[in-house]
Amino acid sequence: MPKSALVDFSRRMTPDHLAFGTSGNMSVRMGDTVWITPSGVPFDEVGEEDLAAVDLATGNWVAGTARPSSELPLHRALYSARPDVQAIVHTHSEYAAVFAACGEPVLPVHYQLAPWQYSIACAEYATYGSVELARNAVAALAPDHHVVLLRNHGLLAAAATLADAYQIARDGEWLAQLYYRARLLGSPRILSPEEIAAVREQFRHYGQNPES
Ligand code: 13P
Ligand code: ZN
Repeated sequence: MPKSALVDFSRRMTPDHLAFGTSGNMSVRMGDTVWITPSGVPFDEVGEEDLAAVDLATGNWVAGTARPSSELPLHRALYSARPDVQAIVHTHSEYAAVFAACGEPVLPVHYQLAPWQYSIACAEYATYGSVELARNAVAALAPDHHVVLLRNHGLLAAAATLADAYQIARDGEWLAQLYYRARLLGSPRILSPEEIAAVREQFRHYGQNPES
């Protein structure tokens, strides 16, 4: 199941404008094992045979023949720090990367991200694939947050399911795009923490939710 889900979501990255070529990666935790996309393989070409399984504690390769993503240290560090996180999606999506280039947080000019968190912070810069980048990203992601920018790099989304992590990555990119454009047009109004909290409460009863 994690293998087919990883392939399904990998194939969506390019059409959804979350990835260009080989940029970005994603993984799923299964107990003590992390299944992760391969290094340097374009998302639209990733198949199940390309996925790598790695022991979370040691980083040792346990299954698969392709070399795991260069961001394995980042994925392992986040799983180790956050028992609630079962899936991670990393993108170089354009508008998130614009804010990451400037080291600016993405502020809530819209309530789309409200179910997850208030705004998107930006982690300190470090070389891609490094243990330092992993440390910086984990430090910048607040304990109850699910998405963070990586300075001069991209976006990192984490959740209890791959579907949620993917949706958060999309919502984060969409919010960054909206905020960027609103700032070009004028001075966007930023929603307050209280307004975002009210939206979060409202979302509990949204759609077909049985709690409604
Ligand atoms: P990989 O192809 O090794 O996953 O690297 C892509 C990337 O986004 C590095 O930050
Ligand atoms: Zn990257």
